[in-house]
Amino acid sequence: MDKDPILRIKDLKVSFQSGKKFVPAVDGISFDLRDGEILGIVGESGSGKSVTSLATMGLIPSPPGKIENGEIIFEGRDLKNISEKEWRKIRGNQISMIFQEPMTSLNPLFTIGNQLMEAIKLHTDLTKIQIKQRCIELLKLVGIPRAEGILKEYPHQLSGGMRQRVMIAMAMACNPKVLIADEPTTALDVTIQAQILALMKDLNQKTNTSIILITHDLGVVAEICERVIVMYSGQIVEQGDVRTILKNPQHPYTIGLLKSVPDLRGKKERLYSIPGTVPTPGSIHKGCRFAARCSEVLSQCYEETPQLYKTEKDGHEVRCFLHTLKGSDKHVGVTS
Ligand code: ADP
Ligand code: MG
Repeated sequence: MDKDPILRIKDLKVSFQSGKKFVPAVDGISFDLRDGEILGIVGESGSGKSVTSLATMGLIPSPPGKIENGEIIFEGRDLKNISEKEWRKIRGNQISMIFQEPMTSLNPLFTIGNQLMEAIKLHTDLTKIQIKQRCIELLKLVGIPRAEGILKEYPHQLSGGMRQRVMIAMAMACNPKVLIADEPTTALDVTIQAQILALMKDLNQKTNTSIILITHDLGVVAEICERVIVMYSGQIVEQGDVRTILKNPQHPYTIGLLKSVPDLRGKKERLYSIPGTVPTPGSIHKGCRFAARCSEVLSQCYEETPQLYKTEKDGHEVRCFLHTLKGSDKHVGVTS
């Protein structure tokens, strides 16, 4: 039997106030993070990835935000309604997060040592000497060789890649069970990006920390994730094993994302981008949210809202009517 997931998100709906109305930025998403896995969440900017991760950390700004519905079950306990005091025991200790731009998360006025020690002090009751030892251990864990030297430096003295390693060290300070990495490599150049991804894979294997890796790039997911969730306009449009989805994507949106991955198979092609943009929250009232941009659109797609349909592959689900038409005369086929 499968073990219980470490984290289960059930029918999560998060809205933001806009004028007198609340409009949903995340609209009924459900997924499991299994113990020890790396799960990818992919989608263009504005699809609700960061809102999902902030909700999972108890960090939705309220107002203007509000969790309207759903459950956030961590190790069997629903976190949705716990107090800020209880969140503080979980955040950083059990569930940690790293962000895209480490410069905004590190304080420019304090040394790396100061900030790393502070993070450890906040969550443990180690002595000063033990804290220093833990700092060096953590910096080594994230592949910073001259750990002693770095402790005395300020954030601006480090390269972007090194700063991100420091942020990962901070997030790992208390051996969290879950690490949420929100676009951790987006601000970095390609070589450094590959190194940080390799580091996350290594940490996952060494420490068994379960990781949610958020990115707009399916190429990043292909590097280190086992399963992937594709989000569009606040909903999951496809999910499943990375291998299945890369080999046989079913949703026209996923197919578009895959075509826009730079150089996935070593071929140099002109970079494709899906025409149009993600609709703003609340702007679509019926039909498929991707219809206006979809090259396979049917008249039905403007009228009815597709469900997440299970495909023949275990755990692979797709929110597209094309799937229901498979095998029938009406099927227009998915371009690949
Ligand atoms: P992603 O991370 O996928 O790029 P986000 O989760 O940041 O997207 O945002 C999804 C949508 O949620 C945005 O398009 C925006 O409309 C809304 N949103 C996010 N944060 C806020 C906020 N603080 N106030 C109002 N709206 C927000
Ligand atoms: Mg984001």
